[in-house]
Amino acid sequence: MKPDPSGPDGPVCDLCGQAAVFMDRIRNRHLCGDHFVGDVEERVKCTIQEYAMVQPGDRLAVALSGGKDSTVLLHLLRRFLPGAHLVAVTVDEGIEGYREATLRSAEATTARLGIDHHVLSFKELYGRTLDGILRGQPDRACSICGILRRKAINTIARWAGASKLATGHNLDDEAQSVLMNWLQGDRKRIFGRRGENGAQGLVPRVKPLREIPEKEVALYGILQGLYLDLPECPYRHTALRGEVRGILTTLEFGHPGTMRRVVEGQAKLSRELRSLPLAARPFLACERCGDPTSGRLCQACRLLYLGGGSETIVSLDR
Ligand code: SF4
Ligand code: ZN
Repeated sequence: MKPDPSGPDGPVCDLCGQAAVFMDRIRNRHLCGDHFVGDVEERVKCTIQEYAMVQPGDRLAVALSGGKDSTVLLHLLRRFLPGAHLVAVTVDEGIEGYREATLRSAEATTARLGIDHHVLSFKELYGRTLDGILRGQPDRACSICGILRRKAINTIARWAGASKLATGHNLDDEAQSVLMNWLQGDRKRIFGRRGENGAQGLVPRVKPLREIPEKEVALYGILQGLYLDLPECPYRHTALRGEVRGILTTLEFGHPGTMRRVVEGQAKLSRELRSLPLAARPFLACERCGDPTSGRLCQACRLLYLGGGSETIVSLDR
């Protein structure tokens, strides 16, 4: 018999009658801590299997910012893939008042799990911190950071000899990206860049948390005692992404399942487009750094060198 969801001390788990810690509004049920944790783990395992994210022999680099999502991801991958070769890679963008604490958290996590940890800073790679690059234009923080971080994380994953790169993107991140691509009219991203995930020089990416909402990732981490309170990036609310996050959160509250439908709709569109007999545009090597690009320069080099800077990028061979 299904337990009464409203016990004298508040709601109880629909599966066992213990005190509930979570209300699943999509499946309309309450869950206790143990059942919630088991449910999240099961869904992440299914995602890894469904998308065949990890093959035997893979050397998996985990992009570890030290924040909630990536800490949970590393913890889950260590648990699910006990024999796999895992290495953690962190990019230090140089964001004062934020990065120091998350870097310490990343170091503590990798030490606890016994996982090798490599750190690469914007200062080391580009000669400047993000704070320094942004001076006077904080509104562009996330778009500039996104481009430079993507390159940095790929570079360090390559240096670590990784065959795959796992990132902590959750369902909210994915839904926000879909909406932002449409709002910005980014045709390439809406249609998906054919062949990008296997292009030479780009470590293929996988996102095992892509079907787990942000608040469930956070609750999982708290219940597992994975982190203390961590600071948020001070640039987080300066960008369009902050507004899109607000809109999607409101829609999700009023219409549970909205984010999932946005992501699934985009996935269907991408699958249908991939099945069309269109030729993939070949990737070329960036004239400055050698990374794959569809033009003469990769996005990061365009930003750093055509954006008015005369700085010299450090050698990317190591
Ligand atoms: Fe970079 Fe924006 Fe993320 Fe801050 S919130 S780390 S600026 S992408
Ligand atoms: Zn380049």
